[in-house]
Amino acid sequence: MFNAKETYKGIAAAPGFAQGPLFLFQESNLTLPEPYQCKDPEIAWERVLSAIEDSKKEIRSMRARVLQEAGKEQAAIFDAHEMMVDDAALHEMTQASIQEGINPEKAWFESVEVFADMLADLPDPLLSARAADVRDVGRRVLAHLLGIQAPANVLMTPSIVIARDLAPSQTALMDHSMVLAFCTAEGGPTSHTAILAKALRIPAVVGLGDAILEIQVGDLALVDADSGRVTVNPDAEDQAAFLKLSQVAAGQRFADLSTAFEPAVTFDGKQVEVVANIGGLADARQSIEMGAEGVGLFRTEFVYLNRKSLPTLDEQVNIYRQIFDTMIGKPVVVRTVDIGGDKQIDYLGINQEPNPFLGWRGIRMISEKPEILSDQLLALMLAARDDADLRIMLPMVSQVEEVLQARVLLDEAYAKLRQQYPDCTRTYQFGMMVEVPSAALTVEHFAPYVDFYSIGTNDLTQYTLAADRMNARVANLASPFHPAVLSLIERTVRIAHEHGKWVGMCGELAGEPLAVPFLLGIGLDEFSMSAAAVPAIKRIIRKLNSVDCQPVARNTLTCHSADAVREYLQSELNRLIAV
Ligand code: PEP
Ligand code: MG
Repeated sequence: MFNAKETYKGIAAAPGFAQGPLFLFQESNLTLPEPYQCKDPEIAWERVLSAIEDSKKEIRSMRARVLQEAGKEQAAIFDAHEMMVDDAALHEMTQASIQEGINPEKAWFESVEVFADMLADLPDPLLSARAADVRDVGRRVLAHLLGIQAPANVLMTPSIVIARDLAPSQTALMDHSMVLAFCTAEGGPTSHTAILAKALRIPAVVGLGDAILEIQVGDLALVDADSGRVTVNPDAEDQAAFLKLSQVAAGQRFADLSTAFEPAVTFDGKQVEVVANIGGLADARQSIEMGAEGVGLFRTEFVYLNRKSLPTLDEQVNIYRQIFDTMIGKPVVVRTVDIGGDKQIDYLGINQEPNPFLGWRGIRMISEKPEILSDQLLALMLAARDDADLRIMLPMVSQVEEVLQARVLLDEAYAKLRQQYPDCTRTYQFGMMVEVPSAALTVEHFAPYVDFYSIGTNDLTQYTLAADRMNARVANLASPFHPAVLSLIERTVRIAHEHGKWVGMCGELAGEPLAVPFLLGIGLDEFSMSAAAVPAIKRIIRKLNSVDCQPVARNTLTCHSADAVREYLQSELNRLIAV
């Protein structure tokens, strides 16, 4: 006897398709004890504090795991949790109730509820959604107070996870390699389950209603998280239709891959370069497989990190040559070493700085330690064969003097090369990153000394918005879609073109599908991104008309916020691709 077929409709929260057995997520059974009179408020409060401390340890370990698997934006949820559990007003309210003789479990639970209700009542849906986080944190502390261990919820086989509403910590704690999809009875598209699922590339449907909780564990289900449909115990017809749909989606990825080697030419015939950001040889190989037309950013820091002394000239030549030989004649933009900021090297004896991102970083080391750059430049010259398309670029430039100093070292390195190999015909281009607002605002001053510019939106964003890129608490401020950042980008491209220079972009923004109409509209020449993003970005470029993108770029700059920019670009992208 088969269980009956049921279809549920919810909200598509993270795209994708999944098929597999159902797993019902078990909640902890946190029943409050019968109210009792608290005799020693101090001891009771100590118990609450110790439960808070235990909870904080768990929160930190979840943060570390999510940081590794999904990135810092998602890990920021747990910073917020740590702040919530430490909230002074929440502590005061709990302590005051305990002083009145209320038992600590009840005092904590009720204080958390007051807070969560206050948030839930706020009109802003993003803030009111945080009520679920406060309750999640509250339950964690309560479980410690009650001495209850959360159910393990261990998945033995790849499954579709059904839950009332998964808290971020619950989502984070599951073995993601076993989760085929998340389906929740409650929750909205901006819930953390949705955000986390997207980052983990796990399909998710939320808001399916309580009926979904009635399912039989182990029953087969089909999840179409593109349209928000879940079918339990599907018949043969459903399965066939589902297969077709999921094949179309997989086909898109496949089609992207199969056209990945075609050039990125817009509908009206404008060709741009789509290249990859690499950190070493493995990335270089992957970039070729993904159809990258070269390297737009080779981060050379790895050559210097995790060692006890500077690499020798020979060591460097070896490493660089492997990369050039892999890229066989394709352009390779090598960024000279960008030490400092978040990448510290002990053997250089750099003092601990209070603000490393505003300190002795990148090209700034040239005046104190020019030999590091001289050696690297010579190694690059020696490693590149005559047919290599070598493009050398400086990081963190904020003053013209830095470029002038570097040019002297570059000329010296070239002279040494010619001394050693008088017949060589090697050429190279010389460029700089535009990642500090001062450079973007004075692009013209650099023009006589460089062949090209490459915009580093990761740093340009942090410096423009004064939001540390490593600090998860300000991650929401640090959007490259902010109109201030976009306007520096637009200026850079416009002025560089007026001076006959080409401009690339190697910050994360270049790999964002949403940014493509804007970047094409302002005339960006080269898009550099992680290799995996190359096929889809090339497809989008091919579908757009560069002339149609020009008014879109102009309008984008009149938007007042990063959110408004995203919303506008999304609607334009849909419209332009549909045309
Ligand atoms: C940037 O800042 O945008 C960039 C590409 O450099 P990195 O991320 O290495 O600082
Ligand atoms: Mg940078």
